[in-house]
Amino acid sequence: MTPKNSLNFSGGPGALPESVLRLAQESIIEVPEIGLSVLGISHRSDWFSAVITELETNIRTLLGLPENYHVLLLQGGATQQFSMVPMTLLHRKTSPAEYIHSGYWSGKVLPEARREGPIRVIWSGEANGFRRLPEDDELLFSPDAPYIHYISNETVEGVQFDRVLGRDDVPRVCDMSSDFLSKPCEAERFSLIYAHAQKNIGPAGVTVVLIRDELLNDVPADLPGFLDYRSHSHAHSNFNTPPVFAIYVVLLVTRWLINEIGGVEKMAQINRNKAELLYRLLDSSNGFYRGRAESQDRSMMNVAFNLATPELENKFLTRAADAGFSGLSGHRAIGGIRASIYNAVTLSAVEELAGFMDNFQRLHTK
Ligand SMILES: *Cc1c(COP(=O)(O)O)cnc(C)c1O
Repeated sequence: MTPKNSLNFSGGPGALPESVLRLAQESIIEVPEIGLSVLGISHRSDWFSAVITELETNIRTLLGLPENYHVLLLQGGATQQFSMVPMTLLHRKTSPAEYIHSGYWSGKVLPEARREGPIRVIWSGEANGFRRLPEDDELLFSPDAPYIHYISNETVEGVQFDRVLGRDDVPRVCDMSSDFLSKPCEAERFSLIYAHAQKNIGPAGVTVVLIRDELLNDVPADLPGFLDYRSHSHAHSNFNTPPVFAIYVVLLVTRWLINEIGGVEKMAQINRNKAELLYRLLDSSNGFYRGRAESQDRSMMNVAFNLATPELENKFLTRAADAGFSGLSGHRAIGGIRASIYNAVTLSAVEELAGFMDNFQRLHTK
């Protein structure tokens, strides 16, 4: 059978709501309010200025973001932020910035940060295969650190922090790429949050950065313009040609979150129900499905698990594809199975997956 888009459990780029896809489709031919294709509208047009303004307002509304934050729409993905953050905040610092190494993606951050200045890894889950996250008493934060950096949801291993880390007197920086706008996040407790769009809030090409105003007071003077947050702030995210289409689709997703879902609290409730359904199934499978993450640290966005053997996992993936499911193979770094249940994956799609898994288990246990 060919894949069904409603059964797309891809880790990223992830699924988008069907109503958003229909509006995006229409906009490629003609954006209703202006009669032009979104792919051929000037980024200097009044229409696009209004798109940026509305998107910024929607993000502020959804997160209750105070006025002293800039909302920036950048390019270069989360990976660009791995460098831009230390280029901005580690400049001429002698005490190290503190990093938490909780999975594949926070491992990718470290070499980029080390290039820019001193860092200290205050906790690593590498020895236990990133199956769990640190408890508070394992984390000794220094008051002298220029900032602390962590990833709220490790997309590959499926572990997610359910609390804010760090000290209130040290700037917190967080990569929220795979759980941004999936739940309330206490944004005002962070100095800088970044999240690319392509996991949970849109197509690839745009990265949202929320940055507290005072962080821009002491930016190195010699940064390339494109790598200086101030350039983007002064230009209202229109410093050079931005990804107009990607930004427009993220706007449509925020309208969907506000008008159809009813905000991030409501979204979180739906996401919790989806995740609980799958984790209950793993837990009651008598070891047929083996969840990767320890239960207290499980992600509400990425449900990673194994079966008894790689052969059985391959069979699972083949049968799942036959049934119309897609995106279920684990990240190439660790294999196994991963069901990513981002905002746009509906509860009924998750129920279908659970039904399939139940059935697969019954056919493969004696
Ligand atoms: C996917 C992912 C990245 C990589 O993002 P790019 O936009 O491809 O650079 C970084 N961080 C997290 C948490 C991710 O899930």
